[in-house]
Amino acid sequence: MDNGGDYQTYYNQGFTLIELLTVIVILGILMSIAVLSVLGVTERTETEVCEANRLELGRYYRVHLIVESKVHTSTAFKEFMLGYGDEICPVGGEISYDDRKVECSVHSVAANGNDEGDDGEVPYL
Ligand SMILES: [Zn+2]
Repeated sequence: MDNGGDYQTYYNQGFTLIELLTVIVILGILMSIAVLSVLGVTERTETEVCEANRLELGRYYRVHLIVESKVHTSTAFKEFMLGYGDEICPVGGEISYDDRKVECSVHSVAANGNDEGDDGEVPYL
């Protein structure tokens, strides 16, 4: 009989402070992991969008140079950029044309200091 009474009171207490704190801490850890991985995915996507846009812009620019029978100068590139219209870099990096490549001041390989030759798959998190 006594044991039954203890059992009742134990379960009527609800959660202890320690249990609540443990749950809150675990939720906090899970939230921070989720936020960090979402941020990583966003950053990687921005880099990929910038890269794809720059490749396309470079192709159009080379075609434009051939069609107009011009040689590349920074002025010619700026003029072409004005007519191109589309936003190249999602974070607003400065676009320049160097050595037959369109470079971004934020995402280009030179700006990141990465080595050339990795085939796009960069391990992340
Ligand atoms: Zn960029």
